Amino acid sequence: MIRYASVLLTSAFALGATAAAAQEERFITIGTGGQTGVYYVVGQSICRLVNRDTETTGIKCTAPSTGGSVANVNAIKSGDMTMGVAQSDIQYHAYNGSSPEFEGDMKFDNLRAVFSVHPEPFTVVARKDANIASFDDLKGKRVNVGNPGSGQLATMEVVLGAKGWSMSDFSLASQLKPAEQSAALGDNKVDAIIYTVGHPNGSIQEATSTVEANLVPVEGPEIDKLVEENAYYAKATIPGGMYAGTDTDTNTFGVKATFVTSADVPEDLVYEVVKAVFDNFDRFKGLHPAFENLEPEAMVTEGNSAPLHPGAEKYYKEKGWIQ
Ligand code: GLU
Repeated sequence: MIRYASVLLTSAFALGATAAAAQEERFITIGTGGQTGVYYVVGQSICRLVNRDTETTGIKCTAPSTGGSVANVNAIKSGDMTMGVAQSDIQYHAYNGSSPEFEGDMKFDNLRAVFSVHPEPFTVVARKDANIASFDDLKGKRVNVGNPGSGQLATMEVVLGAKGWSMSDFSLASQLKPAEQSAALGDNKVDAIIYTVGHPNGSIQEATSTVEANLVPVEGPEIDKLVEENAYYAKATIPGGMYAGTDTDTNTFGVKATFVTSADVPEDLVYEVVKAVFDNFDRFKGLHPAFENLEPEAMVTEGNSAPLHPGAEKYYKEKGWIQ
């Protein structure tokens, strides 16, 4: 069940209220991620555009910080949130019930895709003094593997499974949030941190500027196999020079951030949200450097494995972006 308040603003009881149209006020909540990540900016940006039209649409939007992808999908399923941002692998697994987080009752076949957003490379950052030049060097190290509810923790589990490792291959597998992990790296509480996130972002900037640190490539036959076998993964490169301490390109793999909702959310509501974003697309793109290369048609056709929500589909058809 989706819970959001419907309030009739124009009181039907108001004496003398003549032909004023009833304006329905509706509240939507968008699940994001940690405040130092990019999901938070995605949610805040969408809400900013939606709220410009509140007077005509009646829709009021908020986008609080959350634990990330898995937490967002679960909150949409329970009706605590209306929409949310989730990694493309999490979208796939939630819809198909195909990963440990979404097995059995946790499967969410009412999940609906709205659009995909920026690419998110699986990013590993290590302290220089920990001498970590490849993913394999993480064995025996202190690693922050991602907070509960985050996409990075779920994707880290997949990588460990592919390599035949487990969390006990690390001397410490901490689960700090994104906002805490950069400081933990600087304070020498961990040797490396993991973040599946768009670039450039403030969190990795902080991690690489508070202590000498380097990005770590994530590649090899197991990663090739993951990318070959799963359409929601792709090879990714973090450009050299983007962060202090890493002048050459870093090869890894990654997902796309996607924007999702539930089939229970009304068509006109999703239509208005999508319209607010794409009618003001240049403004949206300007709100974060990770959005720089976004193209509407690719956002509609790539990275989504759940069916499109009918409200989104309606707008894309009007634009001629889909048949
Ligand atoms: N990809 C991360 C997650 O799914 C969030 C990244 C961000 O907040 O930008 O939890």
